[in-house]
Amino acid sequence: MISKQLPKLLGVRDLVKIYGLTAKVQLSQNFILDKNITDKIVKCAKISQNDTLIVEVGPGPGSLTRSLLETGISNIVAIEKDSRFLPVLMQLVEASEHTLKIIKGDMLKIDHEKIMEVAQIRNTISPDSSLHLIGNLPFNVATPLLGQWINMLSNRSGIFKFPNTKMTLMFQKEVGDRIVADTTSSKRGRMSVLVQSFCEAKKIYEVPSSIFVPRPKVDASVIQLTALQSPLLKAPVNLLQEIVLYFYLSRRKSINSIFNKLQKDLSKDKKEILSKIIEQLNVDMSLRPGNLTAEQFCHLTKLFHDNSLSIPKR
Ligand code: SAM
Repeated sequence: MISKQLPKLLGVRDLVKIYGLTAKVQLSQNFILDKNITDKIVKCAKISQNDTLIVEVGPGPGSLTRSLLETGISNIVAIEKDSRFLPVLMQLVEASEHTLKIIKGDMLKIDHEKIMEVAQIRNTISPDSSLHLIGNLPFNVATPLLGQWINMLSNRSGIFKFPNTKMTLMFQKEVGDRIVADTTSSKRGRMSVLVQSFCEAKKIYEVPSSIFVPRPKVDASVIQLTALQSPLLKAPVNLLQEIVLYFYLSRRKSINSIFNKLQKDLSKDKKEILSKIIEQLNVDMSLRPGNLTAEQFCHLTKLFHDNSLSIPKR
């Protein structure tokens, strides 16, 4: 909560002018300067006052951060790569009486222990502890970031140690559509399977490109991911990734012809193992990869893992 009476904070537009902040294309800086929109994002996110830790990725000049602080939540760590925003963000830190903490760093490379240390919650995680990761993500790193987070979620490492984890993240509309796509959607792809193996994924807010400054070429959407208490995958995530990649490289082919192709690449004893796996899998072989659920891919991965089978290297 912003409680200390400081001189009124400048509008974000003024801050942009004063600090001479020009949007850096390589940092994917498309700001939201309309507080009604950031308030709406925070409202849709349903951030709980009981959340143990809120992590914001890429606060920039801090409009979403302000909306977060105004809800009265008590432990926010924001990670920003561009040091030009630090003076602006430090005003918010002071106004929040250090409820907000800022780390200058790259979210792709940061040691998550540092986030826990700054938040002062390193050894205090209980079964009720919850993490809410939020951000108007830099579009150019959104997909690698999500891939990294899903990997970390798969082995509950870094900030994903929290037993309860939600992520409320802005993506380019096309990427968001792929993340939430179900088996009836032509947008379904590898990312849909990977994310849905670990999270419930839903679109909570669509935003037109006109709300960003500078205006990007595409619209965006806010996606909420709620980590499944019991992930669908009971095998190593890299094996799932290899299998899904292999299938989606032939996305127009039937499951039957993909398995036939795989059979040809295997040694005789492995061919027999694969035949047994196919019997146990019990899927309609005329389907295409896009029609398979995350559950079916996870089942296939578990069967591969249990039988020490892997996708042959090319
Ligand atoms: N949250 C602000 C808003 O909504 O107006 C800014 C959003 S802007 C799309 C993305 C922000 O992420 C920028 O401030 C940019 O400097 C920062 N950023 C880019 N790459 C980053 C990274 N790897 N780690 C942390 N922040 C990054």
